[in-house]
Amino acid sequence: NGKRRYIAFQANPIYNRDGTLKAAMTTFQDLTEYKKIEDALRESEKRFRLLTEKITVGVTLNGPKSEIILANDAASELLGLTSDQLLGRTSFDPAWKCIQEDGTDFPGEKHPLPQAILTKKPIRNVTMGVYRPKDASWVWLLVNAEPLLNEEGYVSNVICSFSDITERKKVEQLKTEFISVVSHELRTPLTSILGSLGLIMGGVAGEITPATRTMLGIAHKNSERLVRLINDILDIEKIESGKMIFHLRPLELAPLVKQAIDSTRSFADQYGVSFQCEIEDHLDNFMVMADNDRLTQVIINLLSNAAKFSPPEEPVKVMVFALNEKVVRISVTDKGPGISEEFKGRIFQKFAQADSSDTRQKGGTGLGLSISKAIIEKLKGTIDFTTSPGQGTTFYLDLPLLTDNIKNNQQFLLDLPGPTQNLATLAEILQRPSVDRDLKILICEDDHDVALLLYQTFRQLGFNCDIAYSAAESRHLLELNTYAVMTLDLLLPDEDGMALLRELRSREKTRLMPIIVVSAIAEQGEIEFNGQAFTVVDWINKPIDQARLISAIENAVRFGMSENKRSRILHIEDDRDLVQVVAVLLSGIAEVSSARTAKEAIKKLEEERFDLILLDVELPDSSSASLPALLNNPALGTIPVVVFSGNELEPGISRKIAGGLIKSRTTNQELINTIQNIFNGLKVPAK
Ligand code: ADP
Repeated sequence: NGKRRYIAFQANPIYNRDGTLKAAMTTFQDLTEYKKIEDALRESEKRFRLLTEKITVGVTLNGPKSEIILANDAASELLGLTSDQLLGRTSFDPAWKCIQEDGTDFPGEKHPLPQAILTKKPIRNVTMGVYRPKDASWVWLLVNAEPLLNEEGYVSNVICSFSDITERKKVEQLKTEFISVVSHELRTPLTSILGSLGLIMGGVAGEITPATRTMLGIAHKNSERLVRLINDILDIEKIESGKMIFHLRPLELAPLVKQAIDSTRSFADQYGVSFQCEIEDHLDNFMVMADNDRLTQVIINLLSNAAKFSPPEEPVKVMVFALNEKVVRISVTDKGPGISEEFKGRIFQKFAQADSSDTRQKGGTGLGLSISKAIIEKLKGTIDFTTSPGQGTTFYLDLPLLTDNIKNNQQFLLDLPGPTQNLATLAEILQRPSVDRDLKILICEDDHDVALLLYQTFRQLGFNCDIAYSAAESRHLLELNTYAVMTLDLLLPDEDGMALLRELRSREKTRLMPIIVVSAIAEQGEIEFNGQAFTVVDWINKPIDQARLISAIENAVRFGMSENKRSRILHIEDDRDLVQVVAVLLSGIAEVSSARTAKEAIKKLEEERFDLILLDVELPDSSSASLPALLNNPALGTIPVVVFSGNELEPGISRKIAGGLIKSRTTNQELINTIQNIFNGLKVPAK
């Protein structure tokens, strides 16, 4: 029929008894069908090979110990190694540098491959940055790992696929930067709006009618809403880029929760909702390691959500109790509508709102919970909820309790004043008996409205002020006059504010002048200046927290720093963290310099002038034998010594000591007071 057939022939000889050939038997078999199947298979295998080879997604087949058995071209291309070099290594070898989205190292156990082997479940869409030594470049990959199980249910292989998302990351980066710039730019004008509205409503510009007051109240409330939105967006941006600062320290939960409730009360009143708080008695008062402001922010978010969704007259219940020996739970329960099945999975996502009209009706942004989750995870805790539709919702935070071990090693249980604690109103502050009003303040700020606002605020407090709109102007004014305090914007038209700050610190006349940074990028500056925080009195973000600004000014002025001869303290201590904390804490009273060993201390004492020594008796090189030697060293002269130590003092050495404080039992205020008293005592005879 004119068609080709494939036939297999087989010929078998048949022999006579004497061994001679008798005949041959030939068999035929038609193989046409087999041949077709074989060709098709070969073709399909070729296509499949081409598919994996030519695809731009990297694919590796890995063995049960993550080792690479097979890698396609894209895999070698993306990882920067030839396929031979790849064989036998594990995909994303811990020896290669891999980072997470926030720039921190990718923890080995979190790698998708070991995860897939451990959980026997596919791991999807993990973003990781991988360093390629070949051309010293970074590539961002979106990784999937698919485990293959054998009949016994063990993982026999894992297929790992990864695609290059570097470009996408770049675009995302641009977008984030754009948002961040816009938000920062918005902060300055908002500062003037909020500030002036506050001043007008406070009566600075004369009497206002009740009708005007209502309108101004609306404007004020809405500017505050805008500020909240911008702050949320900036928070998200900071969290995502790993730039959020966490000041971790041991905190007592009960007062923190109560304070959060107090701060949310007036908000809840609008919805006719009250709070009921139950705090379980606990031996150690529930101590956790956290950042005061950030944890408060999370609790306030849960409280205000509960208040928003609770029916009026139904109190929101707040409980703090030990979940077990190691974990404390804070729960917030409302009797609201609950959270729908459909929305549950998305609730912690950015901008997620069950009902988008919530934004307008209830004034939320849909960012609160996603920020809260990120914060709580940074604090090594978890956040979750239970809900039943129509009945209500309980959101809860679980945080690790501080163990005795950490507590005993924790040298410093002090409470640093945080920004949210200064909630005094302008009126209250104005009534405080305070500082020497003849002192002059230099305002260095390029935005005329903000400058005017600062000017008004300081004038209200009775200070004289000069305004410099640029770095050059401020340099000029600083030459001409002596200022008690300077406020500095970091974004100046002619120069980088940070550079100006450094320059002022290096010049004799302004070396000790208290500077308060007031800037939309104050936090960024603080990170850059990290560890030298004592050279700046406070870092205040825009929009300006007026109470915080005023208390910074008062701190700067009150302690006689205006004399340009600040008291100097030598802190002899080997724990760097503690040195930093004390430096910040005492920044209002004195300039703090530190020495890590007794030897270094004696050297400093010989070279520089100090007014007081703050001494840790457990230095690496000061056994109790060398301690008296240090105290008797002539370099010490008559400088008063305050021992600040983890233990009670040995009786023999307290002879020369002006004061003794035990680290974990001293509050901030006690430390400040002790030192302040000694300084005051010193000054009396001189006067
Ligand atoms: P925001 O409250 O600013 O809109 P959140 O991230 O805090 O943002 O909350 C996101 C959404 O989750 C809310 O818009 C609401 O739909 C839902 N939600 C949060 N808390 C509750 C609650 N207690 N009861 C019901 N729905 C809630």
